[in-house]
This record gives sequence, structure tokens and C-alpha cells, in this order.
Amino acid sequence: MTTDFLPQITGSFANPASENPTVAMIEAAYKHHNLHFRYLNCEVTSENLKSAVEGAKAMGWTGFNCSIPHKVDVIEYLDGLGESAKLIGAVNTIVKRGDQWIGENTDGKGFVKAMKEVVDPKGKKITLFGAGGAARAVAVEMALAGAKEILIVNRSKERGNVVAKLVSQNTGAQSSYVPWTQNYSIQPDSDIVINATSIGLFPNVDDKLDINFDSIFPQMVVADGIHNPPLTHFLKTAISKGCKTVNGLQMLVNQGVIGVKYWTNVDVDPTVMHQKLTHVLGID
Ligand code: NDP
Repeated sequence: MTTDFLPQITGSFANPASENPTVAMIEAAYKHHNLHFRYLNCEVTSENLKSAVEGAKAMGWTGFNCSIPHKVDVIEYLDGLGESAKLIGAVNTIVKRGDQWIGENTDGKGFVKAMKEVVDPKGKKITLFGAGGAARAVAVEMALAGAKEILIVNRSKERGNVVAKLVSQNTGAQSSYVPWTQNYSIQPDSDIVINATSIGLFPNVDDKLDINFDSIFPQMVVADGIHNPPLTHFLKTAISKGCKTVNGLQMLVNQGVIGVKYWTNVDVDPTVMHQKLTHVLGID
């Protein structure tokens, strides 16, 4: 292949963030499937966000991810939003579709994909701990996947009410805020119980949810959004009670699978990504 006469810019930049686990995971999928794509991590300040998006467009990227604090601010530089991203009000994945740049949110989609491997959320009653960005994405996607009822159990009443209202008013699911009282007992008819708070996230791995662990029953499917460690205290307890579980690593991998599908139209093998991720995180 001769590329010498194409008009090109070939860049070089100091990139201490290249060992990022997500980068390693996605590049592993590209390599495994012989896809001629690259996934690079660039640090972009808020004041440079607009220029960075223009740069991505100018350089012919097929899309990109963005993290906190850009998940909301990037929207004004896009041409449209996917259905759930519109409801969530934040995006983490940008996709070029034709000449349009569309914002998607794959946080909740990755979670639902992992959940569906264990149980279909359709018609289920869900207890969801947390009302931050991850909880919002999970609540919206579980509702769009057909969940019947979602209880938002959160420390802050204000944030909890916002998520419950968002779900009730925009999806077919019923949702309400439930105050997180001390030693909270999970309602026994909950089919699925999810931790979408940051309690137990590395390095605070010994932190525990303030719940009555005897209110976890074997018929409940229990999930945790935390990917490091993949087996949180909450999940370990659920396993000891005989519950089926979904961990945050599966959510993160599936999110990557969905992003790659958006950008390349190829369904990549999640096991390759899972293996690379656990290796980079040192938890294999
Ligand atoms: P946010 O900061 O937006 O929200 C944090 C949530 O945790 C809030 O609901 C907060 O409650 C609650 N919380 C934190 N500490 C406590 C505590 N001590 N007691 C009770 N509630 C508490 O974070 P995100 O939503 O962005 O992230 C949450 C988790 O989800 C993180 O662990 C993150 O790693 C994970 N995540 C995983 C992803 C994956 O792909 N696996 C993707 C995205 C996130 P309050 O509102 O009262 O402050």
C-alpha cells in the first residue's frame, strides 16, 4: 500500500495515559479481530474541549469516548443524541453516523447487556442503590429494557428524587425514591438488586453498604457497578446467600463491546477484552 502522496498529518505526543485499562482492552479487541483501528487516550482540559472535538472531526475519527467532566459539556458540540443518552442527559461515547456526530451513553447499555446474560429485566422489580451518573444510566436503560418498577435508594433525597422522576416520567417503568435508612432492609419482592454507588471501590474495598444483609434472598439477582475489585463485599455476600450475580467488570467490558460496534460495525469477542482488562488491572 502506498500512502506517501496522501495529504497527512502524522502526530507524536507524550502519552503517559496510554497504559489506561480501557485503552488496553479496546486495542486488544482491534488486534484480535485484525481491525485497522487505533484507540488512543488524550488528556483534554475543559477549555480545550471544543477544539478537541473539532480536531477529532477534522482528523477523520469514527468516534471517541469522553469521561467526567466532559460527559455533559460535550453535547453542545454534537449533532444529536441517542434515545437513552437524551434521557440520561450525559454521553460517554460519540459516534460518526454519516455526516452527523451523535452522542450515546453506553454505561447503562453495558450493564443491561451483562444483566441479560443472567436474567431479562422485563417485568422485574428492581432495588437500585445510588443516584449518581452510573445509577442514572442504569435506571434509564433497565427501564427501557422493560423493568416494571425501580426503587431508587439513595442517601441524598434530592438526587434520588431526580432519578425516580426522570424514569417515571419518561419510560414505562414506575419509579420512586426510597430514603436510605440505617441498616436498610431490601424489599423481599425485589427481583434484582444493584449497587450503583461508589461504596467498596478500590482502595476502600472494606467499605460496606449500610444494609441488612439478611434481607438478601437467593432468588434475587445481585449486581455491582464497581469493576475494581470485581468481587466486592456486596457481591461476595450475595454469592454466599446463593444469588446469581453480575459484576462491574462485565459492565465495563460490554460497554467497550458496544462502543467498538458503534465505531467499526464489528461484534468483538468480549472474552479477549475481559482477559486483557483483568491482566492490566492485576486481577487475573
Ligand atoms: P457519582 O459520584 O455520580 O455517584 C456516587 C453515588 O454513590 C451517589 O449516589 C452517592 O450518594 C453514593 N454514595 C457514595 N458514597 C456513599 C456512602 N458512603 N453512603 C451512601 N451513598 C454513597 O459516581 P458515579 O455514579 O459516576 O459512579 C458510581 C460507581 O459506579 C463508581 O464506583 C464507578 O466506578 C462505577 N461505574 C462503573 C462503570 C462500569 O462500567 N463498570 C461505569 C460508570 C461507573 P449521594 O447522592 O447521597 O451523594
